[in-house]
Amino acid sequence: MKLLITGGAGFIGSNLARLAQDQDHEVVIIDDLSTGYRDNLDGLDVDLREASILDASALASALAGVDSVVHLAALGSVPRSIADPMATHHANATGTLAVLQGCHDAGVEHVVVASSSSVYGANPARPKHEREWVRPLSPYAVSKLATEQYALAFQQSFGLSTLAFRFFNVYGPGQRAGHAYAAVIPIFIDKALRGEPLPINGDGLTSRDFTFVGAVCETLLEATGRKVRHPEPVNLAFGTNTSLNELVEELSALLGHPLDVEHHPARPGDVLHSEADSTSLEALFPDIRPTPLRSGLSRTLEWFQER
Ligand code: NAD
Repeated sequence: MKLLITGGAGFIGSNLARLAQDQDHEVVIIDDLSTGYRDNLDGLDVDLREASILDASALASALAGVDSVVHLAALGSVPRSIADPMATHHANATGTLAVLQGCHDAGVEHVVVASSSSVYGANPARPKHEREWVRPLSPYAVSKLATEQYALAFQQSFGLSTLAFRFFNVYGPGQRAGHAYAAVIPIFIDKALRGEPLPINGDGLTSRDFTFVGAVCETLLEATGRKVRHPEPVNLAFGTNTSLNELVEELSALLGHPLDVEHHPARPGDVLHSEADSTSLEALFPDIRPTPLRSGLSRTLEWFQER
């Protein structure tokens, strides 16, 4: 299979590229390296096109002869979107429309897109089923709602085979700390290894459905292989629930010593609890198994220690 990964130089995209190559697929990547890194692809034999998905001719050229697309290119992070909503909108909402239009024009059969649990926003339901109402709390969440809804509308309007996943908090090797919009697990590991206090926004009771990147990439690749389409968004998480305080404890157990924390005010746009109802995922992908947090964290920790 010839697979185009948009945003393939990013955290999830580069893990997916590695798995796809291991399974003998031909991989093309389009990535403008705005938040991704060329060296994430070290050792891989992929065709990297350094360009934006908003560059129509670069996108059309990357799409030539492709069987399936996994569309991951986006500007991540809630705080980044609050600092610059227009940039997030262009990359994520307009960018997705460009990718879907490009796929339709190029006759690509199947497209998977990455939405986010942030679309549930103000909805307090636990766990969150895909039919729960959505109420985004940030421009990022709005842009991800546009991403998934455009993908589903292209299924209805043009017959394009699409699948829209809502990722929850994906973590694992390749996810970096050390930049303003880093995610919580890399921040915690980085601080812990430096012997610095772990910053917690709020009281630490905030909880997340942390999902190891390996299981996410296996699901993405199976979806492209079987060309799975679905008329509704699908949560890509396994219904686990870990508070930030529990995450600190897990990390402390792995490192074998207690860790200091420092509390900061809760951030605007952040949701309190995020936990997936995984019934749809299990029905569509019965063979996919979650990676337990302890083992996923341990592999992530190893990646940090090797660097
Ligand atoms: P990432 O920032 O590591 O990867 C995104 C990639 O997209 C980067 O390599 C970046 O350079 C590229 N990119 C950004 N704008 C682009 C553009 N205009 N043209 C081409 N490339 C562009 O992020 P990630 O964590 O790997 O996330 C991948 C996808 O999953 C994103 O769509 C994100 O919104 C979604 N998602 C991630 C999580 C998570 O926990 N990591 C949660 C929910 C949703």
